[in-house]
Amino acid sequence: MKHPENDPAYKGLNVNKGIPQPPSINPYLKKKAKRRQYTVDEYVDGILAGNIPILSQAVTLVESSKPEHEEMAQAIIEKCLPHSGNSIRVGITGVPGAGKSTSIDALGMYLINKGNKLAVLAIDPSSERSKGSILGDKTRMEKLSVQKNAFIRPSPAAGSLGGVARKTRETIILCEAAGFNYVFVETVGVGQSETAVHSMVDFFLLIQLAGTGDELQGIKRGIMEMADGIVINKADGDNIEKAKMAQRQLQNALHLFPVPESGWTPRVLTYSAYYNIGIEEIWDMIHEYIDFVKGNGYFERRRNEQAKYWMYETIDEQLKNNFYRNPVIEELMPRLEKEVLSAQKTSFAAAKEALDIYYGMQKR
Ligand code: GDP
Repeated sequence: MKHPENDPAYKGLNVNKGIPQPPSINPYLKKKAKRRQYTVDEYVDGILAGNIPILSQAVTLVESSKPEHEEMAQAIIEKCLPHSGNSIRVGITGVPGAGKSTSIDALGMYLINKGNKLAVLAIDPSSERSKGSILGDKTRMEKLSVQKNAFIRPSPAAGSLGGVARKTRETIILCEAAGFNYVFVETVGVGQSETAVHSMVDFFLLIQLAGTGDELQGIKRGIMEMADGIVINKADGDNIEKAKMAQRQLQNALHLFPVPESGWTPRVLTYSAYYNIGIEEIWDMIHEYIDFVKGNGYFERRRNEQAKYWMYETIDEQLKNNFYRNPVIEELMPRLEKEVLSAQKTSFAAAKEALDIYYGMQKR
């Protein structure tokens, strides 16, 4: 107890010996009751009744890679499928900092205030590496996160992009069956995840910023071509003029692209998510689009195309998983990799060897 404060001459308060920390404040904590297991029908009934805790648990099953969970999830999805499809699905993309979460908060609150139910899902390719995803995180959407009519779910964290995206698509089905009539799917505008999001939504919204140099530089042309609408955020204060200029540039650039299959020429709008300016106009645009494509049959066609796309995607994903998770293949691959790297084998020969072994095992 050699504190200067404990010197008899010291006039202030003394430092007392501390109390040892008990190992656990609540010794019963570990014995926390296990979650009750529902049957498939209980899950389905709960979802159809709009029970959010049950919906959440069902989504957890969808995200799980355990075979028994997968089987149950598929049974639930199948039973929910006839009750799905009744929402407007909007994909939202933009580089980090573009204002996705602020915009989702503002666009979402507009819907909630009109009595809608909104699910916010996400596909985050970076979650593959970090095993933790921030997209779709409740803390990023302050106003929405406390609304009982908003269901916010971060990106499924494990697996390949195809797997993660499939799970998000299946979650859309469950959310729709639970009565959510709007679904947002958020992703970062930097990689291939846009293609995945594009193939599960009705309207693809690209958030851009003005004043980042050449307006076309920041984002890949392919992503611009996918967009049904481009919105320039942060059109507030000193930024308004710059945003207007970017709007003109982008609109001109879009005229150079071929007319999309939908027959709809994408529009460019400016807005401020932070100051809640221009939000209604964005919704007017989206609803106008939906009416337009429902009128010309593209809405149905796109959803059918998407269903077909996901059938093939799922086959691809399952074949790959089945191959790479095979213990024999798992053991074989490092050796083949070495042989390819040291030029003992060609890539083709090594691939053929692995596939021959795999097919051989399938025949048995
Ligand atoms: P995200 O990374 O795309 O999700 O972007 P955030 O929504 O987190 O926004 C990034 C930053 O931009 C935050 O500091 C926001 O406060 C700010 N921001 C978002 N929208 C606006 C806006 O409309 N105007 C202004 N001035 N700032 C905004």
